[in-house]
Amino acid sequence: MSVHFHLSVAIQGIGLSRSTPENTQGVSMSEFLVLGAGIVGISTALELQSRGHSVVVVDRTSPGLETSYGNAGVIQGEAAEPYLLPRNLPTLVRMALGMTNDLSWSSAGILANASALWKYYRFSETRRHREISQTYAQLTSSATADHASWITAAQADDLITRDGFSCVYKDARAFDAAAQEMDRLCTTYKLKARLLTGTEYAGEEPALTGEFAGAIHWHDSWTCSDPGRLTQLYADLFVTRGGEIRTGDASSLKPNGSGWSVDTIEGVTEASSVVIALGPWAPQTLKRFGYKIPMVLKRGYHGHFNAPVKLQRPILDVANGVVASSMVKGLRITTGVALVPQNEPANPSQLIRGAKGLAQIMELGDRVEEPQWYGTRPFMPDMLPVVGKAPKHSGMWFNFGHGHHGLTLGPTTARLLADAIEAQTDTLPVQSKLDPQRLF
Ligand SMILES: Cc1cc2nc3c(=O)[nH]c(=O)nc-3n(C[C@H](O)[C@H](O)[C@H](O)COP(=O)(O)OP(=O)(O)OC[C@H]3O[C@@H](n4cnc5c(N)ncnc54)[C@H](O)[C@@H]3O)c2cc1C
Repeated sequence: MSVHFHLSVAIQGIGLSRSTPENTQGVSMSEFLVLGAGIVGISTALELQSRGHSVVVVDRTSPGLETSYGNAGVIQGEAAEPYLLPRNLPTLVRMALGMTNDLSWSSAGILANASALWKYYRFSETRRHREISQTYAQLTSSATADHASWITAAQADDLITRDGFSCVYKDARAFDAAAQEMDRLCTTYKLKARLLTGTEYAGEEPALTGEFAGAIHWHDSWTCSDPGRLTQLYADLFVTRGGEIRTGDASSLKPNGSGWSVDTIEGVTEASSVVIALGPWAPQTLKRFGYKIPMVLKRGYHGHFNAPVKLQRPILDVANGVVASSMVKGLRITTGVALVPQNEPANPSQLIRGAKGLAQIMELGDRVEEPQWYGTRPFMPDMLPVVGKAPKHSGMWFNFGHGHHGLTLGPTTARLLADAIEAQTDTLPVQSKLDPQRLF
């Protein structure tokens, strides 16, 4: 996200509990230090806490203010197959020429991501993608169930709608192709979906007023009207249950005796083990420890609009490469991928182009005035999150690289990481596919 709060401001939003013991030097000790308070870090903290461990979370800002704040809010239970990099020449040429709005790029962005992109291209080969999807489907199929108990305990039910989401097709040929693909996905992964013509779907979705060929309504997903708030409510639950959230910079992480320590405004925070849950910033921090993490940094933008009629459920407008979701702040339009260097200033042209296209099928209303938000999907070239023990350091664990589906998979990979930490063998087959060792 473009907004970085000063530490002094950030701390005001953080509830502190006093469960972590302090020694005589005022140094706080606990079993686990979780670095990163996005949906992944907070879910990890909650899961470890629920298994009886003492946990401190450290972030430079308040929970859920970065990538986990600005996403499209879909808990994508239907996303059995991760997004591959198209390998056929016509599609690549269309992307290179900017003929599709799914992707924008700059030469500096391609250069910055070159090595990870090359790996991504190779993992996108059909046979490899099928193998990866077998693992991915196991993750996404339990995503809503893994969120369910936290949603109830965090009293976040008001934010959640359990009615799936839809893909809307303007063009008849694209719709026919998608219908066939829907059959394949439903059969292979036992997903539930229904096919509707444009007229049928518009009949049940009053917000859609323009003409389009058809829609697919995927039933297995849930949606959240404020993903940043959901992360904050999970964080509040963690604190209510005795957890602690501190403000500090992960760059101060260092080995300390048999454990780890990090500097925070509240003092030095020590723990026997550390979990790196820093999303798109994980490679930066881990570089200091000798890990070269090949991550594709997929930027995305959002903007809010005062649409006069709310969407019942989010839609992916396939022709224009944007997702539209009715959220607490208005109609949120989120974009596809911009391959640009991580620190490049915002360029909302993809958002503007997507909104213009979407306006052909629904009334958007005026844009809400706000600073331009953008975030970075932390995407691994083999499309799988990195969950498990750090290969070269004792007491260091990884949980990052959730790409397009961190909101979806936060609680799921938290459960798998806790299983790995506790050497639980029930989930070993899937744990082994996510193991960080595969990267090196
Ligand atoms: C436009 C867009 C739409 C998306 N839509 C969806 C969707 O519909 N469904 C879905 O499942 N996913 C979606 N995603 C992906 C999802 O948002 C991410 O995968 C997820 O938020 C990643 O969570 P995280 O906790 O790993 O990272 P983050 O939320 O970024 O959290 C990382 C944390 O680390 C902290 N941090 C970083 N560096 C330091 C440091 N040096 N010291 C201390 N703290 C530090 C940050 O402050 C931050 O709080 C979307 C993403 C984008 C960009």
